[in-house]
Amino acid sequence: MEVYKFGGASVCDAKSIQNMAALINNTASENLLVVISAIGNITNQLELLCQYYISNDSRATPLLEEIKNFHFNIVKDLFQDPHHPLYDEIANVFVEIEWLLEEEASDAPDYLYDQIVSIGEVASTKLVTAYLKSIGCNVAWTDARNYIKTDNTYQEAKVDWLKTEAEIQKQLIPLLQKCIVVTQGFIGGTSENFTTTLGRDGSDYSAAIFSACLNAKALTIWKDVPGVLNADPKWFEETERIPQLSYHDAIELAYYGATVIHPKTIKPLQNKNIPLYVRSFKDPTHLGTIITALETPLPVPSFIFKVNQVLISIFPKDYSFIIEENLSGIFSLFHKHKVKINTMLNAALSFSVSVDQHEVKVQALIKDLSFFYKVKYNIGLELVTIRYYNQQTIDRVTIKKQILLELKSRHTCQILMKDTTIE
Ligand code: ASP
Ligand code: MG
Repeated sequence: MEVYKFGGASVCDAKSIQNMAALINNTASENLLVVISAIGNITNQLELLCQYYISNDSRATPLLEEIKNFHFNIVKDLFQDPHHPLYDEIANVFVEIEWLLEEEASDAPDYLYDQIVSIGEVASTKLVTAYLKSIGCNVAWTDARNYIKTDNTYQEAKVDWLKTEAEIQKQLIPLLQKCIVVTQGFIGGTSENFTTTLGRDGSDYSAAIFSACLNAKALTIWKDVPGVLNADPKWFEETERIPQLSYHDAIELAYYGATVIHPKTIKPLQNKNIPLYVRSFKDPTHLGTIITALETPLPVPSFIFKVNQVLISIFPKDYSFIIEENLSGIFSLFHKHKVKINTMLNAALSFSVSVDQHEVKVQALIKDLSFFYKVKYNIGLELVTIRYYNQQTIDRVTIKKQILLELKSRHTCQILMKDTTIE
């Protein structure tokens, strides 16, 4: 058994789908599970649609039409036949959202989010399966919600490993013995058969869950970059491919925000010792990066760059120390508002953390914190994490930056800074 995962960029238009189908077809074996995300930017669009729906905004229906047409246009580009059954199939997929929009939004936004946003993956997999069939590939579509069994923590569902493994063994393995199987990343189902999602960018994690439960030989994540790079080309001019990476370093890089793989992907693979390949769908002959248990030190420093950071500084109102009781209260508020801490520094009379600048969540958190503490915050900051740092790399990334916080451990250095060239 082998698992391939393709993200939104590999299915963003007809040409990419054809390219990906050729890649799958060349593999041409049964025993291949293909896990796919929603097309291109569709998850963001569905997220917006959901926001419109919940806030009773009339833009919801026209946006749904736009999303549907986007899919229909790809069908048109892929198939000459104007009556191809895929038009109806795609229309049926979106009927679920249409039904929802006809009713008033209930007060369970997380639940509604999952029912709406998950449709992106259902649609993309229908499209890809139809195209693979049309080029003669022996392939079947299957619904990931029947296998990935979760609790009902909507938007961030927790996997029930025992149930998931049992379903995969019982239903998926027999199917994979007959043909290539296409399924969705990102989505799961509760025991009452409601749809859940595993958190944004969760398709990598889905692919790892499937790989672990199938005892797969390997998981390959196909990307538009030639493997894991030591820095994101979006921010850094010179980047290098890392040919070999340990599970440990991969988790560290993903944890600090390297977007190449979702942080939750590694653990299920590591537990079963399944190698993870990160390769480019633009150049499938290229080796990419292989991630295994082998502890190989990284050959070059790696940089993870995050913009839109907020530094929140918390002070007791009465000069009492920041002690354990205060910290546990502070942490529980971060937990309540689902705000993830990127860096933190504790001093006698202050506690400073940096977080992603998520407008709504962060403001609500600050409001709650201000009830007990004096709170100051600073927006528009940048956070750079350097793994296997040295002074030279630190100097390079801090040119023209004002440093607000610097943390160093043996292998990792984190610097929160402000770009002094922008006002
Ligand atoms: N489509 C989902 C998202 O964009 C899952 C994924 O891409 O991994 O978050
Ligand atoms: Mg996506």
